[in-house]
Amino acid sequence: SLLLEGKVAMISGAASPRGIGLATARMFARHGAKVVVLDLDEKAAAEAAASIGPGHRGYACNVADRDACQKAADRAVADFGRIDILINNAGITQPVKTLEIDPASWDRILDVNLRGVLYLSQAVIPQMKKQGGGSVACMSSVSAQRGGGILGGPHYSAAKAGVLGLAKAMAREFGPDNIRFNCVTPGLIDTDITSGKLDDAKKAEIAATIPLNRLGKADEIAGAYLFLASELSGYITGAVIDVNGGMLI
Ligand code: NAD
Repeated sequence: SLLLEGKVAMISGAASPRGIGLATARMFARHGAKVVVLDLDEKAAAEAAASIGPGHRGYACNVADRDACQKAADRAVADFGRIDILINNAGITQPVKTLEIDPASWDRILDVNLRGVLYLSQAVIPQMKKQGGGSVACMSSVSAQRGGGILGGPHYSAAKAGVLGLAKAMAREFGPDNIRFNCVTPGLIDTDITSGKLDDAKKAEIAATIPLNRLGKADEIAGAYLFLASELSGYITGAVIDVNGGMLI
């Protein structure tokens, strides 16, 4: 049977053609969900939603803008009458070292990766409470656990570590409302954010250091999100799922 039949799922940062968000939107749709694609540009979000199939929606939503997050949640409720699942997936990175981080880049990285998780969660929680529950999955990273990856700077590690703390705190606070909060910590996944910036030689060099000897696929993160969104994980909250090919062994 379909894992998300009758569910409405809102996914941030889901318009990028090769990204994890759109792969997730497609997988959720295949499992019976109606999907709301959120991304910076309204046209790109709408086109991404249309590419999944009929009946899905795409809205502009800068997750770092609190009003925009509330507006997106309101539109989803107006269009579908409910929100069952939130995937806090939007994120940006910047490959710099500590001494190169200036106040503006610190703010930019923290705003999208961490503040955005708070704002979008705040926007959906009252609706989920009304409905008697929901599931929220948040995008962290192996960078949070290892103190840096290949492409994220220290501010990115800090933001993604912040996501773990924030999600756990919300898991504790909203457990009694049957709203679950969990995180995914991917290793290096083949999307524009990463391999778009790496040549084949560099990719092969990195792959050799990973026990599974390859980068991950966007669908392999979507699969973890699907598990966390569905009732298969109904008794899991405050958890962190590593999807990293063994990078932390
Ligand atoms: P991507 O660049 O393809 O997707 C990110 C999406 O977020 C884009 O569509 C972008 O337009 C959108 N976005 C950026 N700023 C936004 C904002 N302020 N509001 C709304 N949307 C915004 O990259 P991806 O690899 O699919 O990344 C998805 C998430 O996975 C990110 O949070 C990233 O940090 C995280 N992540 C990626 C990897 C990896 O190796 N690719 C590893 C660990 C974590």
